[in-house]
Amino acid sequence: MRFILLGPPGAGKGTQAAVIKDKYSIAHVSTGDILRENVKKGTSLGQEAKSFMDSGKLVPDQLIIAMVRDRLKDMDCAKGFLLDGFPRTVSQAEALDHLISNLGVNLDAVILLDVPDDVVIERLSGRRICRRCGTIFHVNFNPSADGSLCDRCGGEIYQRDDDREEVIRNRLKVYYEQTSPLIEYYEKKSLLKKVDASESSDTVLTMIESLVSR
Ligand code: AMP
Repeated sequence: MRFILLGPPGAGKGTQAAVIKDKYSIAHVSTGDILRENVKKGTSLGQEAKSFMDSGKLVPDQLIIAMVRDRLKDMDCAKGFLLDGFPRTVSQAEALDHLISNLGVNLDAVILLDVPDDVVIERLSGRRICRRCGTIFHVNFNPSADGSLCDRCGGEIYQRDDDREEVIRNRLKVYYEQTSPLIEYYEKKSLLKKVDASESSDTVLTMIESLVSR
């Protein structure tokens, strides 16, 4: 199984990917997670990417493409992979076509998680994450008991710099300008399948599963 989760920030790509990768034993390739890991470790890639990420802009294509090229060669990608947050530009999609054909495999589907802007803003501005175990909370929909510490591991809960409302609006603008042309790109390849991602995450998961296992 090899597919892409496409959609605006806050559509639930990471949430769905975390469940799907375990259920189907495929690799979850999240360019956002790889970049955040690099920022945390202070690598040169992380240092280069940080200012773009903090302002909600896209990290330059050549850095991202090189990163994904390396990641897809990892052993765990051999059984299949789910791309989350990549591609985000037409150049990245074209590069992915080459990477995939060099690996001698095909994409099965591109799932578009469709969700209105006001839902995105409400979801992301209230999102809080445990620094230690990565558990995701929401100040209104799923608050931690304490408010500042994780219910699961006691770690500190924080808000991503790019989950501030002004940055979210910029990320949405970037999505419409640079990423949404991929909808047509994959429609033309007859790979695009659309899911209403404003539904509950269990419903969205069921819809994704019905589309990728056909
Ligand atoms: P995400 O966690 O997918 O929302 O990504 C967080 C941030 O990382 C984005 O706002 C971008 O700054 C950067 N990023 C992640 N994936 C990409 C990509 N495919 N191309 C360019 N920048 C990316």
